[in-house]
This record gives sequence, C-alpha cells and structure tokens, in this order.
Amino acid sequence: MTDILLQARDQVLERGAGLDEAQVLEILRLPDERLDETLSLAHEVRMRWCGDTVEVEGIVSIKTGGCPEDCHFCSQSGRFETPVRAARLDIGSLVEAARETAATGATEFCIVAAVRGPDDRLMEQVGDAVAAIRDAVEINVACSLGILTEAQADELQAMGVHRYNHNLEAARSHFTSVVTTHTWEERRATLELVRERGMEVCCGCIVGMGETLEQRAELAAQLAEVDPHEVPMNFLDARPGTPFADMPPVEAADALRAIAAFRLAMPRTVLRFAGGRELTLGDLGARRGMLGGINAIIVGNYLTTLGRDPQDDLDLLGELSMPVKELQRTL
Ligand code: SF4
Repeated sequence: MTDILLQARDQVLERGAGLDEAQVLEILRLPDERLDETLSLAHEVRMRWCGDTVEVEGIVSIKTGGCPEDCHFCSQSGRFETPVRAARLDIGSLVEAARETAATGATEFCIVAAVRGPDDRLMEQVGDAVAAIRDAVEINVACSLGILTEAQADELQAMGVHRYNHNLEAARSHFTSVVTTHTWEERRATLELVRERGMEVCCGCIVGMGETLEQRAELAAQLAEVDPHEVPMNFLDARPGTPFADMPPVEAADALRAIAAFRLAMPRTVLRFAGGRELTLGDLGARRGMLGGINAIIVGNYLTTLGRDPQDDLDLLGELSMPVKELQRTL
C-alpha cells in the first residue's frame, strides 16, 4: 500500500482533492517521528491552495453567559456553576471593539451571543450593531448567534452579515456525549440556511473532548462535507465547573497532527487557530501550527478565556513572512 503522505502529496498537493475519512485517520495515527514531514506537507498544501496570506479576525461577545443549552465544554451555559457571569454589551462598545480590531489589520469582526438561537430582542440589537459598525469601520461583520430560523437567516443576510459561524463542535457519533439539549442535525440545518442565503459559512470544532481518533477523523470528514469557507479549530481548554472540567489538554503532537490532518482534508478552507491553542501548544507550537496548515488567527481574547497579546501574533506573522490578508471590498 502506498504511504499515506505520498498519497496525500499526489492527491491533495498536486490535485487539490482533500483526504477522505479513512485517509485522515491514517494521518492521525502516524508516529511522532513523522510529524515534521506531515506538518511540512500540510504547509505546502496551504501555500499552494490558499497562498501565503493570513486572515485575522477579532471576536466580541454581545451577550455572555446564561445560555440554556448544556454543551459540556462551555462555561457560558447557565446550567453549570462556572465563574462566567451573564452580561450584555452596548452598541458603542461594539463599535469601539470593531475599530480596535480593524486597527490590527483584521478583516473580520465576529459578534457572538451565548444563546440557543436569537430571540427578537437580540436580532434587533444585532441589526443595530451591524449597521453601526458598517457605518463607522471598514471591516467585514460576521455573527455567531446559534441555531437560526429561515426568517432570521433572511434578516441577517439583509443586514449585510458577511459570514455566519456555527460550529459542528464534534463528530456526529460523539455529539450526544457533548450536548443533549439540541442535535447535531439542528446545527447542520442552520449551516445549510446560511449557505443558501449566500453568506460565508464558518463551521468549526473542538478537538480533545474525549473523542477517539476515529471520531476525530469522522469530524474532519463531516466538516469537509459542509465545505465551509472557514474552519475555526479549537482545542479543549477545560473550564472549571463544566462537565469537561477534568479533561486533560490535548498533547501538543496530537494537536499538531490534527491541524495537519484537517488541512489535508480541506485544502482550500480558511483554517483558523481558535481557542485553546496557548494551553495546548504554547508559543513554539503556535509557530509550528502556522507552518503546518493554519492560515488564520483570532487576535486578542476569546470569549471567556484570554488569548495572547495581538502584537505577539502579528510579530510572529512578520517573522514567518506571512502577510496579513487585506480587506476585499465586499462591504
Ligand atoms: S456553546 Fe453556545 S449553545 Fe452551547 S452552551 Fe455555550 S453558548 Fe450555549
């Protein structure tokens, strides 16, 4: 049988066809001695099919905490005793956050709410916020507001929302061990609504929630099937008070292998370093990830955990000679 990295070189690098589930699993099972080789192939694939630019995004929470859902990794669920307190942000603060984000060179600004799905009041607030930001700041506005109805998807499109984030989070076969208050299929349906409205689909996951390697490969294949414009890759950062509080962090080598494998499954997607990378990979690992298939980052803080100083990330991109992607005039 041909070696999986040779297969991937021909199939993914030369022909641009992503690896399937069985092939991803082979990548995830490669020994540590082959990690450098794997990362370097994933990097070549990224450079060939996505180019050298890095997409920078900022995120801000319009409504934090108090969510009725029970996603076991999430400190914003109102069902768990976590230190996160419910809070809402006003429009002025959102515009200011968008302005600060744009000043880092970022092209995407994502407004996030901890909800099952938006109610009328939240839709109204988001509408006001999107209009105010688009008026004052040159940046694409994205939203992450949970499960949508058809009418809400229409409204977001009419507001000029450029991209919508809704993560699958976990493989379908693992989902009920992670969330019991809604289904994987409900998440998947929202992604279709978003795509049908012509908004860019951002659909990510969390690695390290007790899944097997087979389920990690399944997740990569299911994400590839969604064919998202962007995949934010999170690594579990176990939050106190949540059901996953005692889960150990993903080993750095496994995290890097997962990054490379996801890149080889999705050669053209924007693959973004999201939450948990500092814990799992540290500074050195961040560099290896950027040279192992990642082509987008979130600057500043995540929703409930602190990230690195934005300047550290921008300095790293400078050292790696990776230019920050400029805003295309889609506004
Ligand atoms: S991940 Fe989203 S839907 Fe799930 S508990 Fe957290 S905020 Fe609620």
